[in-house]
Amino acid sequence: MSAVAPETTTTGLREGAFGNAVALSCRECGHRIDLGPHYACPECFGPLEVAYDFPAVTREEIEAGPRNIWRYKALLPVPTDIEQSPNTEPGFTRLLKADNLARELGIDTLWVKDDSTNPTNSFKDRVVACALSAARELGATVFACPSTGNLANAVAAAGARAGIKTVVFIPSNLEQPKQVNSAIFTSNLVAVDGNYDDVNKLAQEIAAEEDGWAFVNVNVRPFYAEGSKTLGFEIAEQLGWRLPDQVVIPVASGSQLTKVDKAFQELIKLGLVEEKPYKIYGAQATGCNPVATAFKAGVDAIRPVKPDTIAKSLAIGNPADGIYVLDSARRSGGAVEEVTDDEIREAIVLLARTEGIFTETAGGTTTAVLKKLVETGQLDPTLETVIINTGHGLKTLDAVSGAVGPAATIAPSYDAFAETGIGQA
Ligand SMILES: *Cc1c(COP(=O)(O)O)cnc(C)c1O
Ligand SMILES: [Zn+2]
Repeated sequence: MSAVAPETTTTGLREGAFGNAVALSCRECGHRIDLGPHYACPECFGPLEVAYDFPAVTREEIEAGPRNIWRYKALLPVPTDIEQSPNTEPGFTRLLKADNLARELGIDTLWVKDDSTNPTNSFKDRVVACALSAARELGATVFACPSTGNLANAVAAAGARAGIKTVVFIPSNLEQPKQVNSAIFTSNLVAVDGNYDDVNKLAQEIAAEEDGWAFVNVNVRPFYAEGSKTLGFEIAEQLGWRLPDQVVIPVASGSQLTKVDKAFQELIKLGLVEEKPYKIYGAQATGCNPVATAFKAGVDAIRPVKPDTIAKSLAIGNPADGIYVLDSARRSGGAVEEVTDDEIREAIVLLARTEGIFTETAGGTTTAVLKKLVETGQLDPTLETVIINTGHGLKTLDAVSGAVGPAATIAPSYDAFAETGIGQA
């Protein structure tokens, strides 16, 4: 594969380019290769993951770091001087105690990890910041991605700040706000007539043909994926350095969910939190439910689907990490559940009216799945629970613009207002 310029092979890396990361390791067979722009195991084609040799890391060292994901730089594949390079500084988003929503759903203790406040208003800024560091260290000249929307926004913005050429590929039927939120940062937004899985295939072809391209979720995917760990690190740190009992996470490719699990495991291994059982739950839309279907059927194989849902940021019909989501959910005693588009819309409004958080369709999916898990007895309402809101509602206004609006349209007179009854208790 000619993913980066020939003069920037792994041998051309500067010392400490990937921090405490030491190799890429195959998730399937454990085979190890040198750090570089690779994503598939040369032995078995399994996915590659970043492997580390962690030094002792203390809570105090982390707490003394910046209020963004780089406070965890010792646990990421980034150099120790990462803060010197222009990037978007995402992370350390709010962990909100959601008492009103908890009461509504009959849950004792509920938190919302609100990632809608990242620089481009989704959790994707975390993974892209790590991918940008890798692209820079590997000497890439183009920063690119196939995207269901949010990733394109994050890549385009981070590339602009880094001063590197960006090219982002999206399905042409994507929501208008997500198109504008990319095109504002890059002149190279490419709309492809096809669904996400078609766009992803095209990206793999380009990555194989072109030199110097870092596709964040293709050839630098192992580095990109590590960024999702910071969600798990932050949840634990913000709870006072302990793990929650249950966490509900939306599933597109499945990378985020598996990396939150990996983050919890690393915190335990490093002695940063006490070891305890926790359950991991995945959330999908019924219009794109390949992992939920496999979970319920009790099978290991994921059968790809053709997505048809308002939750476009979760619309990956052939999820790369789907089988590992099944593994996390089953091993931890969690579940993978699905909800309809109507349930997603209702949950967006519910979260907004109980907690003042406007989520996009992905967060609507997560909130609706939480509700369903409680109602079906799959999630214990007496245990401490965290849900992750991964994106901002302003990006998917169309999803709810038919469901909410003015309660009345009136003449500018007191009588007209009085007639509406809105002033009454
Ligand atoms: C990409 C995305 C996800 C899920 O990401 P995966 O790691 O691919 O499962 C969830 N929510 C939002 C808003 C996203 O953009
Ligand atoms: Zn392998």
